[in-house]
Amino acid sequence: MEIIADIPVRKVNHSRIGEVDFEKLEFGKYISDHMLVCDYANGEWKQPHIVPYANLSLSPSALALHYGQTVFEGMKAFRMHDGRINIFRMEKHYDRFVKSLQRMCMAVPPRDVFMDGLMQLINLDEAWVPKQKGNALYLRPFVFASEARFGVKVSDEYRFVVFTGPVPALYTDPIKVKVETHYVRAAKGGTGFAKCGGNYGASFLPTQNARMEGYDQVLWTDAKENKYIEESGMMNVMFVINNTLLTAPLSDSILDGVTRDSLLTLASDFGYKIEERAVSVTELEQAFKSGIITEAFGAGTAAVVAPIKTISISGTDHMLPQYDDSKLMFKLKNKLEQIRLGIDADVHGWNYII
Ligand SMILES: *Cc1c(COP(=O)(O)O)cnc(C)c1O
Repeated sequence: MEIIADIPVRKVNHSRIGEVDFEKLEFGKYISDHMLVCDYANGEWKQPHIVPYANLSLSPSALALHYGQTVFEGMKAFRMHDGRINIFRMEKHYDRFVKSLQRMCMAVPPRDVFMDGLMQLINLDEAWVPKQKGNALYLRPFVFASEARFGVKVSDEYRFVVFTGPVPALYTDPIKVKVETHYVRAAKGGTGFAKCGGNYGASFLPTQNARMEGYDQVLWTDAKENKYIEESGMMNVMFVINNTLLTAPLSDSILDGVTRDSLLTLASDFGYKIEERAVSVTELEQAFKSGIITEAFGAGTAAVVAPIKTISISGTDHMLPQYDDSKLMFKLKNKLEQIRLGIDADVHGWNYII
């Protein structure tokens, strides 16, 4: 990929990389030396800059702090088996970023600022891309309303920032989830498809309540009838029922997960039967009764797949069978990892190699 223009760089005097224990990474603990910053004002995006990672200065009346115009992405760069670095599905992440920003009435950073910005930032902090298999450099691009003004209004100024940090291969033990029928995450016509800050703030209380009852996550149902499974926390949700891979169809109340899309594509490549359709809570209950549900899992960038061992429906815990390596979710995860490492052919053009 040709780089359109070099972004001015102010480098750190001393790298902090010596503080990182790459053998014992923790998700969200370490942040790389540099960040990208680009401001929007007077109707245009200014020159982006790469600078040492540091606190930002902003006005207490910055609109984002009051009215919630904030949007983020969560993506990863991997070191491939030959040592090159690959930003996984960068274009799809950018497209989703644009949709989220548009829904929140925010300025959209130009495609080349996003792409070149990420590439140059990762090149500069190349040493932070972990070498251990499965570990990755997490990338966090985000935009927030930076205009200082306290009346409710659409901001005329924005700041686009990208920081990165090494994260471990997240292996999650099978989790327990609870079908939520009191609180809702997203309604038709709302912002559920956007990765905007408010969606997460609103999900904390129900999730905390579920934790107190002994569950790891909630399974959100539709806002209108609480009848259909939508998704979970920061993951889309999939089931294997009757040897068919099932997941809710995309809508304005469901986040268009890149992992969801990748897993559906791979399952279809495997010749597996797939249905993107509404899955009702009743259908799940019956599938448990007749023993035809064999897998349930979350799908997201952090863990790729998060196996689910228990689903609570109206106070009854339903157990999934024990999972072994032969399960579809692990085959899909493994295939995805082999593609990202550059070991298996990248037939869908997902690897964006720097
Ligand atoms: C980010 C996110 C997902 C998963 O998306 P990926 O692109 O696969 O990481 C699913 N649901 C919600 C609510 C999310 O925020």
